[in-house]
Order: sequence, then structure tokens, then C-alpha cells
Amino acid sequence: MNIVIFGAPGSGKGTQSEKLIERYGLHHISTGQLLRDNIARGTHLGKVANTYISNGNLIPDKLMLEVLEEYFQTHPGIRETGVIFDGFPRTIPQAEALSEMLAKLGTEIHAVVGLEVDEDELVRRMIERGKESGRADDKLETIKNRLEVYHNQTAPLREYYIGKGSYHAIDGNRSVEEIFGDIACKLDEKTAR
Ligand code: AMP
Repeated sequence: MNIVIFGAPGSGKGTQSEKLIERYGLHHISTGQLLRDNIARGTHLGKVANTYISNGNLIPDKLMLEVLEEYFQTHPGIRETGVIFDGFPRTIPQAEALSEMLAKLGTEIHAVVGLEVDEDELVRRMIERGKESGRADDKLETIKNRLEVYHNQTAPLREYYIGKGSYHAIDGNRSVEEIFGDIACKLDEKTAR
């Protein structure tokens, strides 16, 4: 089972991914975390990525896709475990490239879980997270740009996946447990079919 966890920044993708991994044993690919690890290690990719991340902008598709291709090549076991994609895809070209990459492995995206959260709640959560995580992009000015980038570049993916019949809307304004219960219910229904 390959799942995309989709939603605006602050919608709870990371939190729900952790719970999904625990329950379904999926391999977690968080592109944001992958890039932050590169920044921490001072790699060339990290240096380039930081110029985008620190302003709340997206890494260009070409670069992001090269990173993904390399990840797939260096982690051949993911075909068997299944993957939860967290923070990827974020643009239509990324979504198209992802289906191609998965098709080459003889697999596909089975479900897109869309965490739908009100905008003021998103801002509140990111400000809160910034206090704990020390994430440089969790400050008000950058948050505003990240939300704008989300609306312009990422939100169209919602319609894209609705068109493919794989989008499952989840009300993400509730507690972590309630949201997870809802997601698990939808996925269990899907795998039982
Ligand atoms: P996240 O941890 O998913 O909130 O990602 C943090 C930041 O990493 C984003 O604001 C982007 O700058 C960058 N990033 C993560 N995933 C992607 C992606 N799929 N495409 C482009 N940029 C990304």
C-alpha cells in the first residue's frame, strides 16, 4: 500500500504519518525532513535547499525529482513495505513524475489522504510548533508565504487526485486520535475491498 498524506503546512501530516507507520508498517518518505537532514549535514543539496526553505518557497521540481529518483534507487526495499509520502508531491509535475516512478516499480498510489484544516488553525499550530521544533520556517512571515505557496502550487493537487478517484477528505480540525481513527477506518475499508 502506497499512501500520500496531503494537506497544507501545519495540517498534521507528520503527526499522522508517524501513527500510520506504526499501524501499517509503511516506509516514511518526508521530503521536508530529508532536506532538513541535508541542511544539518551541510551537504551541497542542503545548501541549495536552504535558500528556498528559509523563505518558505518550494525547491524546484527538477531538483526535488532528482532527490526522489536517487532515494528510490538507494532504497530498493520500499516496493515491498509500501510507502507513506509526506510532503510530496507538492506540484502537479511532481505528482505525474511520482506515478511514473511507481509504475516503473510495478506499483501505484493507492490512496491520498487529504487533511483539511481551517487556515487560522494552521497558523496557530505552526506558531506553536515553532516554539518547540526550532524550525526556521515556522515563524509568522514565512508561514504566510508557505500558505500562499500552498494555495498557488499545491492545492490544485486536490482536484487532480479527486479526478483520479483516489482522494479521501479528512476533517483535520479535530484531535490527533479522532483524525487518526477516521484515516485508519478509510484505509481499512479500502484494503478490505
Ligand atoms: P515540510 O516539512 O513538508 O513542511 O517541508 C518544509 C519545506 O521543504 C517546504 O516549505 C519546502 O521548502 C521544502 N519541500 C518539502 N517537500 C517539498 C517538495 N515536495 N517540493 C518542493 N519543496 C519541498
